[in-house]
Order: sequence, then C-alpha cells, then structure tokens
Amino acid sequence: MQFWFAFGCLAVASVCAEQRKAYKVETFVEPRYVEKKTSTFQESGQRAIYMMAGLVPIPVIYTYMDAHSYIRPGGDERPIGVSTQVGVDNKLQLDFWSEPSLVRSTDIRVSPTAYRSVMDMMKEAGLSPDIRHSDVQSLIDKEQEKMTEARKMSPYASKDIESEYLTFPEIEEFLNELAAEFPDRVEKSSIGKSVEGRDLIKIRVASNLADTSKPVIWIEAMTHAREWITGASALYTIRRLARQQDREAIDMLDQYDWYFAPVHNPDGYVYSHTTDRMWRKNRKEQNECSWWGCYTCYGTDLNRNWDVSWAGEGTSPYCDHDTYHGVKAFSEPETANLRDAIMSTPNRKAFFSIHSYSELIMIPNGYIRTKPDDYDEVKRVADAAQKALKAIHGKSYRVGTPPDILYAATGGAFDYMRTRDGPNLKWSYTYELRPADAEHGGFVLDTKWILPTAEELFASLNSFAYEIAK
Ligand SMILES: [Zn+2]
Repeated sequence: MQFWFAFGCLAVASVCAEQRKAYKVETFVEPRYVEKKTSTFQESGQRAIYMMAGLVPIPVIYTYMDAHSYIRPGGDERPIGVSTQVGVDNKLQLDFWSEPSLVRSTDIRVSPTAYRSVMDMMKEAGLSPDIRHSDVQSLIDKEQEKMTEARKMSPYASKDIESEYLTFPEIEEFLNELAAEFPDRVEKSSIGKSVEGRDLIKIRVASNLADTSKPVIWIEAMTHAREWITGASALYTIRRLARQQDREAIDMLDQYDWYFAPVHNPDGYVYSHTTDRMWRKNRKEQNECSWWGCYTCYGTDLNRNWDVSWAGEGTSPYCDHDTYHGVKAFSEPETANLRDAIMSTPNRKAFFSIHSYSELIMIPNGYIRTKPDDYDEVKRVADAAQKALKAIHGKSYRVGTPPDILYAATGGAFDYMRTRDGPNLKWSYTYELRPADAEHGGFVLDTKWILPTAEELFASLNSFAYEIAK
C-alpha cells in the first residue's frame, strides 16, 4: 500500500512548468460555413489529478505533439487505481477522460510536457508502464474533417442528426424547424440564459400541449461540453417522440409528457467546437487570489454545482480544475435555471441526466455510500432498462450506484432530484453513454455510432417509462 501512496505523492509533488504544445483543432465558427482556425489546449490545461492506491488499471492517453498513446502503469499485473482526491497538481495537466473507477480501468490524457514527469514517477514507483499508442489528435482531426465535408456537401440543407454532430446554432435551428413541423406536439422555449447569454433551451414533447395532467419525464443532456454524443442522442429522442412513427414512441407519448434540456451547457459546447474539443465545464470567468498573486480561470463543473452535499467528495475547490464546484451551490445560471424549470413542472415523475462515456446506468445514491431504502426497486427498474438497451445492439451497460461502480461525487443533478424532490422524482438516473473506453474514441465517438447509441438510449427510456408506470 505504501508503494501506491508513494506514487500518488510523487504525482502531487512533481512540477511541469512548460506550456503545452499546440493541440490543433480546426473549428466551425458559423453553422453555415467553415473557417479553419488553429488553437491550443492551453486554457484548459489546468487539470486536476486525484491519485492514490487502488486496484484498477489506468490506461494513460499520452499527448505528444500529434501523437498519443495509452499507458497502463505497471501493466495489467500491477495496476494503479484512482479513487478520491489525495493530491492535486494542476501543472501535470492530466485529464481524466472517464470518471475514476473502482471496478474498471480509467482513461487519462497526459499533456506532452507532463509525459516525462509521469514516466519518471512511474519508474521511481517501480512501475513498468505498458504504453499503448492511440492517436487521439487524429480522431479529432477526422471528426473535424467529417464536419467540414458534411457542410460542404449540404451547406444549406438540414443537418442529419443521425450521422453528424451539430453546432449549437444548428441545434437551435433544428429544434425551431421541428417545432414548426409539429406545432401540436413540440414546444420550444428558454428556461433562462447561460453565463455568456445563450438560451438554455427547453423542449416539451406532448400528445396534447394544452394538457398538463400527464406525468412528466425530464431529461437533461450536454452538461459536460465534450460529451457530444449526449446532445445528439437527445435530439434523436426528441424527434422520434415528435414524429410518432413507431409503437414505442406512441406509447411513450401516450403515457407521459417529455421535457428536455438538450444542451444544458451551451457556452461550453460552443467552446468545445471553436477552441478546445476536450472542454468539460461552463465558461464562467473567475478571478482567484492568494498570497502569491491573482489569476483568472474559467468554468464550473455543472454536475458538481447542485445543492446536495455541495463541495464534498469528488469535487475540487480550485477553479482551474475540471471538477470545480463553483463558489456556492447554484452559483451558475445553468444549474439554477434548470432547477427552477424542473421544480416548477407539475406532475414530474422521473429525471434522467445523460452523460458519456463508459456505458453505465447509474442509480442513487451517488453522493454517499449508503443506499436508499428503495434501492432494490430503483435497481430493478434500471436492470430492466439495461436489458431493453442490450436487446437493440448487444451492448451491456453496467448498472449500479456511482460509489459502487465509479466513485462518490457530490453536487450532482440526479442526487439533487432524489434528495430534494424524492416524493416526485423518486426515479432519478444518470446515463454514461457509448463508448466503453478511450480505445473506442472516448469523447470523440465516431459519428457512425450516433444512431446506434441513440437507439439504445431510446429503447431503455421506453423501458423506464413502462416500468415506472406500473
Ligand atoms: Zn459528464
């Protein structure tokens, strides 16, 4: 055990002062044309590292100029694990791609300048890293090339949401067109503004918009900016419900009204298109001062900002970290507005928070290790949804509480719904969609997987809707 703690401590103490090398992203500035632009990850480079002894392997995604590789410290025989925070070193610029997990490997990207420090630490800790090459930059380049080509092919045509990731303006346009196409079933509105003044879109899909007596299912997606598949899957769900062309969609709309916040974090999403594909948080600017001076940093983790054991386990007090919890609970307009919108919705019955990646359906509780009294019941319903999901394309999502399958994290949306609104939102779950790991693309999920992922989500939501109506 001492051995692993030694590694964690080394990680904390190590300093890597160089700026990161360019990590090129070609970006879309406007929805209807493409402007090539080169930017870097410098602004997002302030990443947290929470490392300690554990049991699970960590493939490290190593960024070196344009090349990347996974490193499994110690190989499979002597793996390193990650759990809650023991140390922090934002200069190492390690970036957790998948959530630290107790039962499976965790993917971490390492900046070019941190690579040598990480390797040295591993060697000092007696580890023999298993280096796996995987060119993450090429995935991003390929994704950008596809978007460029798609827009060259049909610059003025409607975008294909089943095979393309839309920009934020394109999503707004898509939803405007959908609401115009199905005025009797789709209602688009705004629940407020983001930090940078963008609309926080709300979509309601109902068989009768004048009738508010049906039970309501709320779904939020794109909380974390780089999780593009979550927004794409939400758009698919909205359109399939609106079209009413299959038995499942008809049943789902017959029983419930469906509410969506399809892009909970529009500022971060735009930033992930224009500047940093790996951006996670919103874009709140904050000035931090201490005895050695002041600095400016950006972004609060919106899934750590809800008032449920706020600023507790699994969060960071440092605003330049990816899990920064904000200055207080609901300090961010995105979370405060969504809270108000959901809590003022009559007949609310269930809530789903859609994230990626890891292929999980997470059940309460996430913020503490004790399980709720109705654990067996909420798990039974999630297991049924998992089976329905698997029946579509054979994917086996794992079901469990975050402390059991990942780690405890406070300030999250789905825990807030349960703890603050239990009588109504007893059915509260968090998805982690495809892929399973970084070796299958991580956040840069190939567009060919949009449709299968969305179909799986839809099938499992159908099961949830059926089961909780019993
Ligand atoms: Zn997420």
